[in-house]
Amino acid sequence: MGGDMTRADAPGTAGALRARHVPQRTCVACRKVRAKRDLVRLVRGAAGDVTVDLSGRRVGRGVYLCRSRSCWELALKKNRLEAAFRAKIEPGSARRLLEYVETLPPAPEEQES
Ligand SMILES: [Zn+2]
Repeated sequence: MGGDMTRADAPGTAGALRARHVPQRTCVACRKVRAKRDLVRLVRGAAGDVTVDLSGRRVGRGVYLCRSRSCWELALKKNRLEAAFRAKIEPGSARRLLEYVETLPPAPEEQES
């Protein structure tokens, strides 16, 4: 007795069990190690311009930040990005990064891993 209907509502949960190799990176602001896909990549191009690299494939020196406003503000205000890139962030890039910060959630999403 009892139809076993509970199985049907969990398709594909097996994938949640730690995949073979999840690339991890460190946020330059809070120093937390997270899965690469949970972080935002920033790239400094040869011309010195720093951009948000949503594709993750841009060529250049890359650093990673959490998808949270607090980390970005910390990185921008405390010059963590400049330290990570070992270079000044030009004002135009800084302004664009600040605009991007506005699109982020205020607090980091905590994820148990
Ligand atoms: Zn962070």
